[in-house]
Amino acid sequence: MAVGQVPELPEVETVRRGLSERGIGQVFAEAIVGHPGILEDCSVQDVAGLAGERLERCDRHGKYLLLRMAGLSRRTLVVHLGMSGQLTFRRADEQVVPGTVRMPSGYVKSLGPPVVDAHVHLILRCVGGGEFLFRDPRRFGRILLLEGWDTACHARLERLGPDAISLTARQLAGLLAQAGRRDVKTVLLDQSVVAGIGNIYADEACFLARIRPDRSMGSLDSKARLSLARAALAVLDQGIRMAGTTFRDFVDVDGAHGGNAEKLQVYARGGLPCLRCGEVLSKAVVATRGTVWCERCQR
Ligand SMILES: [Zn+2]
Repeated sequence: MAVGQVPELPEVETVRRGLSERGIGQVFAEAIVGHPGILEDCSVQDVAGLAGERLERCDRHGKYLLLRMAGLSRRTLVVHLGMSGQLTFRRADEQVVPGTVRMPSGYVKSLGPPVVDAHVHLILRCVGGGEFLFRDPRRFGRILLLEGWDTACHARLERLGPDAISLTARQLAGLLAQAGRRDVKTVLLDQSVVAGIGNIYADEACFLARIRPDRSMGSLDSKARLSLARAALAVLDQGIRMAGTTFRDFVDVDGAHGGNAEKLQVYARGGLPCLRCGEVLSKAVVATRGTVWCERCQR
């Protein structure tokens, strides 16, 4: 199955939570850039200047990770995972005992260790020996180093709408109502309306809300918009609880796969029977993306 999966909000949030656990308080000893092409608006020298900085917080806006440095500089290392980006942490002792750990949601994930190979384009070595590794075989990921913590002024980030899970369903429904007559899926994918939803969770939200993805947003009444907003938040929440969706590349900070793929109802299931009604699921391009829905369940 050729699936060009892009990490979306639940995957990036999974990485953020892992980084917060492993990374906060770490002091960088050395920053090594293997492939400068992943850097945007900063140089190899700029990134090397992270030596001596301490990681104070790890935030996220939509699909962007925001690693905040402490001290006088208060710089922010912005990481976008692109299509196949992985941001992992390798402990100094490398004593990753193979095994499994059960998440609160019931998902049992296998433990790392993270892969280290020629696709690792940035290594942030910490005092004490642990390492952050940015690995990205397809090289669509990007790393920016910004001055200050106020990253909203950067061109990439200023156009983002509010982060999806910072909103209540009513607030999200309100934003959808202002989005005009474009089709439902185009609006859900528009990061300037709401940040974080991509192809997987847009299709899943439409299925859960029983709304066709190719329908005009303007044709939904307020009840249907609220239902869509609730569905979007529910599928994102499930994705986070299952530690993200992995088809091929996505891993968490420990190098472990996410468990949400088996929970998906429609994504990548075109031509297979609908899990709700048995109808063969339709597949077509909507909003320039491969889109799957049920003709019988979704109106
Ligand atoms: Zn159906």
